[in-house]
Amino acid sequence: MKSNLSILKILDNASDDSEKNLEDSTQLYNRLAQGLIYSHTRINDNTKRSLEASSFAYALIEILAEKGIITIEELYDRKKGVAERLIERFTGSGLGLLFQNPEFDKYSFEQEADVDCQSCLDTCKAVCCKFPFALSRQDVDEGIIRWEFKKPYLIAHDSDGYCVHLDRETYHCSVHDHRPVPCRGFDCKNNDRWNVWHDDNQSHINPKLHDQISQANKAAYSPAITE
Ligand code: SF4
Ligand code: SF4
Repeated sequence: MKSNLSILKILDNASDDSEKNLEDSTQLYNRLAQGLIYSHTRINDNTKRSLEASSFAYALIEILAEKGIITIEELYDRKKGVAERLIERFTGSGLGLLFQNPEFDKYSFEQEADVDCQSCLDTCKAVCCKFPFALSRQDVDEGIIRWEFKKPYLIAHDSDGYCVHLDRETYHCSVHDHRPVPCRGFDCKNNDRWNVWHDDNQSHINPKLHDQISQANKAAYSPAITE
């Protein structure tokens, strides 16, 4: 029979577990709520804008056609060019869905970086797992790699800035076999965008790197402006 002390310990652990579960489900709820708010706002805003734009367009077409200023053939020709311009503007505005471009099949990706991460982790603390990047359609469809609900489909980050899939004690990737292409291809010794190391021996991190990362994340993860 268990002593009173052991029973108290079990009850204590159970209460720790339920507090942890509550904290996890609250975090999950908050992330989901952010994503839903994003979707609802976008849908509502898009519908309003579409209705308004359609009303103007139809009214204008009717007036111009009635006055004999345009023909329907001319209209369709011109519409094609305008549509292409608008799509380009939309893509550059940050409102569209973000995907890797170009995309590669991650399971047959041949340009994996040759970096001995294990010997550097004490120093770099997997700082590259704080970088912002978009997932591929393959990542999203597979449903293993988590994306940021409020900025689809960027990799999901936790509040400490790290990717949600990073084990914070070992600095190892918890989804290593399924990690996205940017994780496979990143070479911190030779990279045009991210200057990770202060020296060629990889003994010191570039002192400006953390600022650079936090600015990049701020810009990338800010919700798109819909007004
Ligand atoms: S790629 Fe470089 S920065 Fe990233 S974990 Fe490996 S050694 Fe560290
Ligand atoms: S998926 Fe893995 S390797 Fe890629 S950023 Fe996240 S923790 Fe790092």
